[in-house]
Amino acid sequence: MPDMFHTHCHICVSMRKGNPKKHGSINLDVDTVTCALCARDFCNAHKGRSGNTCEINHITYRARHPGIEGIYARIEDVPELEAGSP
Ligand SMILES: [Zn+2]
Ligand SMILES: [Zn+2]
Repeated sequence: MPDMFHTHCHICVSMRKGNPKKHGSINLDVDTVTCALCARDFCNAHKGRSGNTCEINHITYRARHPGIEGIYARIEDVPELEAGSP
């Protein structure tokens, strides 16, 4: 398994990177799920308000990364969910 993209919470990782002294003790080996909006993994502590989404502002994230496919600003924008049951 490639270590670079091991399923670590992207918010925990960036917190540690941003302030290793303060957040160096954050445990990255926790269960994560993939965010339905930004397609990155997040832990239970950084769960957003709705479903399988992390707590970041996806409207801002989407606006900052217009070139990346598969990023959605709102849960309503995710095609699979909108399609409903087959
Ligand atoms: Zn986290
Ligand atoms: Zn997300």
